[in-house]
Amino acid sequence: MAAAEFPEDDPASEAAQVLHRVFGYDSFRGQQQEIIDTVVAGGDALVLMPTGGGKSLCYQIPALVRSGVGVVISPLIALMQDQVDALTALGVRAGFLNSTQDFDQRREVERAFLSGELDLLYLAPERLRVEATTRLLDQGKISLFAIDEAHCVSQWGHDFRPDYLMLSQLHERWPDVPRIALTATATEATHREIATRLNLTEAKHFVASFDRPNIQYRIVPKDNPQRQLLDLLRTEHAGDAGIVYCLSRNSVEKTATFLTQNGIEAVPYHAGLDSRTRAKNQSRFLREDGLVVVATIAFGMGIDKPDVRFVAHLDLPKSVEGYYQETGRAGRDGLPSTAWLAYGLQDVVQQRKMIDTSEGDAAHRRRLGTHLDAMLALCETVQCRRMQLLAYFGQTGEACGNCDTCLTPPESWDGTIPAQKLLSTVYRLQHERNQKFGAGQVIDILLGKPTEKVKQFRHDELTVFGIGTELKDTEWRGVIRQLLAQRLLTVEGDYGTLLLTDDSAEVLGRRREVMMRREPERVGRSSRSSSASKKKTAVADLAPEAVEVFERLRNWRAATAKEQGVPAYVIFHDATLRQIATELPGTLAELGTISGVGENKLAKYGEGVLEALVA
Ligand code: ADP
Ligand code: ZN
Repeated sequence: MAAAEFPEDDPASEAAQVLHRVFGYDSFRGQQQEIIDTVVAGGDALVLMPTGGGKSLCYQIPALVRSGVGVVISPLIALMQDQVDALTALGVRAGFLNSTQDFDQRREVERAFLSGELDLLYLAPERLRVEATTRLLDQGKISLFAIDEAHCVSQWGHDFRPDYLMLSQLHERWPDVPRIALTATATEATHREIATRLNLTEAKHFVASFDRPNIQYRIVPKDNPQRQLLDLLRTEHAGDAGIVYCLSRNSVEKTATFLTQNGIEAVPYHAGLDSRTRAKNQSRFLREDGLVVVATIAFGMGIDKPDVRFVAHLDLPKSVEGYYQETGRAGRDGLPSTAWLAYGLQDVVQQRKMIDTSEGDAAHRRRLGTHLDAMLALCETVQCRRMQLLAYFGQTGEACGNCDTCLTPPESWDGTIPAQKLLSTVYRLQHERNQKFGAGQVIDILLGKPTEKVKQFRHDELTVFGIGTELKDTEWRGVIRQLLAQRLLTVEGDYGTLLLTDDSAEVLGRRREVMMRREPERVGRSSRSSSASKKKTAVADLAPEAVEVFERLRNWRAATAKEQGVPAYVIFHDATLRQIATELPGTLAELGTISGVGENKLAKYGEGVLEALVA
């Protein structure tokens, strides 16, 4: 597109020019254009968009179009350097102020800000507590305030930052500066809280679809989780970058060691590691191709690595909201990615225990319980996972064709009789014997196993002893999980003892049917997926000639990134390299038409790419 097509003084087309010239993209995505128009015109905006939706452009482009410096408030201090590097590679003038800098570094950024040499200034929220910072801002010209990760203002959310509460004052101090608040958190409650706490009374609200069609959601019954994970990585994600989430530090360490011992390069990340190790592991993950990070949920917010090919959960997340945030870190570049979760009865026992012993009042525990129930319902659904996820965020959709329940539909079966047998066993223990037992003992009774423990408690004398031989041990575990998910049974305490709920009586009294999910044969599923995707996802559907060129370009990119000390994706994304490998541009002009190749990158890397192509 030639610049002459746009009249100089039309700000809307100026935005389109910046998109093309600086970022190398042809067109806006989704609501980007409207959002950008709003802010360029001086209005406030509240933007809810999933990870990978393209939020950054929504404030970066207005900052380039409006006069003055765009001030970006972000809690992600550890990532500011990378964000600035990525903008610098695009030819955008950016700087940051946070606690990691010494006096001289800070003074240099302040000078650049005052003399109008910056387009964007990243600021940690706590900086605004310092009077010197607000005075500094007063002396410069501000084009807009962008409040990134705006859900950090929510006191009930898991990312609450007290300093975010101060941001309501931005408007009072700088009433003429437009504000744009952005988040990837989607629930209605968070949405309202952001608007209120940030005083965004006049703001236009933009709520994007939260669907992430390129992510394949899969939830499998936990069997031998580390083995299952290894199998997934070997068959479908060899050489790919990904994140594995575990609940405890201990299991993070164990899993990272296990993967490394099995030939998959993995580093741990959790709050118990010293900050240097954490920073080093995060930086390696961002900079190297194909590294796996095993982490607690302390890891990941703001990680904008575009080529994370899988997010795996070895433990049940505490809420659907958290799960969606975490899995959303896969596939920002829009290429096929996997969200995989292994879940078992033990997870439910563990989470219930954590809720029972958690601090806070009864209302708080009830809220945690509701979150867990929604998560269990997602795990046990026979419907499309994506539909259920989107419904949780108040959005509708159709069966997606790209989740496990769509690809291998589980049967649903009438489990009323097994449910009655199980509940009546719990009833008898509870009421005839005044005893409480966990799943293991209850199943042994149903199967009629004369174990030591069964004999010790004379459970072989119960009338229900041996009445459940039609199902296998694992199937009974499935029945228990589903009764828990449907709140027809509950667990408590250290040993996960099973107890009836108010609703159990309806099943025992034959007034209620219980439909259950039958796990699809896993053999079928894994053999199908492994034959379909032995190769790395990033090259999966490239022609064989293109694969070779793509690998060559990746090597060139890795070498260049190393030389310049920046993450590889700061140079070009995989999607851009794929397009280059397919179209094989022969001149700089041709290369400039590829999506993701803007003016600055063409000047900086163009020759290098063309050389790598003919090599
Ligand atoms: P978010 O912050 O919402 O998670 P990003 O701003 O990181 O998302 O954008 C996700 C990816 O999409 C980035 O690689 C970005 O360069 C790319 N992108 C954003 N907008 C466009 C567009 N209009 N055309 C092409 N690619 C885009
Ligand atoms: Zn689906």
